[in-house]
Amino acid sequence: MKSISTLKLLLLLTCLLSVFACDNRKPAAGPGKLRVVTTIFPIYDFARNVGGDLAEVSLLLPPGVEPHSFEPTPETIIALSRADLFIYTGSGMEPWAEKLADGVSRGGKPVRCEAGKGAHYLNSAHDHGGRRDEHAEHEHGKDPHIWLDPDNALSMVDRIAEGFAVARPAAAEKFAANAAAYKARLQELANRFNSGLAVCATREFVHGGHYAFAYLADRYKLQYISAYGVTAESEPSSQKLMELVRTIKNKKLHYIFFEELLSPRAAETVAAETGAALLKLHGIHNVTRSELDAGATYLSLMEQNLTVLRKGLECR
Ligand SMILES: [Zn+2]
Repeated sequence: MKSISTLKLLLLLTCLLSVFACDNRKPAAGPGKLRVVTTIFPIYDFARNVGGDLAEVSLLLPPGVEPHSFEPTPETIIALSRADLFIYTGSGMEPWAEKLADGVSRGGKPVRCEAGKGAHYLNSAHDHGGRRDEHAEHEHGKDPHIWLDPDNALSMVDRIAEGFAVARPAAAEKFAANAAAYKARLQELANRFNSGLAVCATREFVHGGHYAFAYLADRYKLQYISAYGVTAESEPSSQKLMELVRTIKNKKLHYIFFEELLSPRAAETVAAETGAALLKLHGIHNVTRSELDAGATYLSLMEQNLTVLRKGLECR
């Protein structure tokens, strides 16, 4: 992960000024709606649920874009400079976020909300094949994929409701009620994960993608190995692929998981070597245009993940 340099930020701000010079568009939001800008899909979806009809929530990541290597563009800066509220995960997921918010700050706007503040964080060096993840190490070695732990999702919704309340104190009660209703649904999801993954033929979780599911593995006591590291910047080593192959053969596993962000090539290689079948898990960093059009939500994608995990781990 490259972090944005001061020089680059200045260049972006220069772009912003030149765009503003001839930009007469009215703000897109309807009258009175809180303009909320979010970074990744789970936060976008949580914010939609908390804001309800009082907010116009937008997602900075274009559909299908890989979020770990995302860098701000002039469009990002324009969106942020018009926002009332800016919600991001934390410095591990979006190392550019705070610097950028500083750059566009005007009279206390946008209000900033770090949704991952107070969440349960895992160390990114937990087990991802001994590969050091430089980006994560800059960020105190924390694994940024906190939203994949249903309990962390509950905490993130609380932080987001607090952010909304700061941005519009008059509607704080409404936001708190929306958050409570959504958290009840998240809690039901967490309960279904607990019961759905309680009794399984195996707890070996072999993943041909990047190290995104450590939170699920930690919560549900799964032995997790992945082909790539936390941010998937370099190709998996042949030793790592052999480790996946050996685990599948030794434990007589029938499935290997792949993911939405990376080509399934590593998983396919291991599948071809072992005869394991491929199953797709969704890391829910971002969604594609077709998923967005089909109405995908954090809850629907997590339900799919539960179904797929139950199949792959052969749960009763
Ligand atoms: Zn990731």
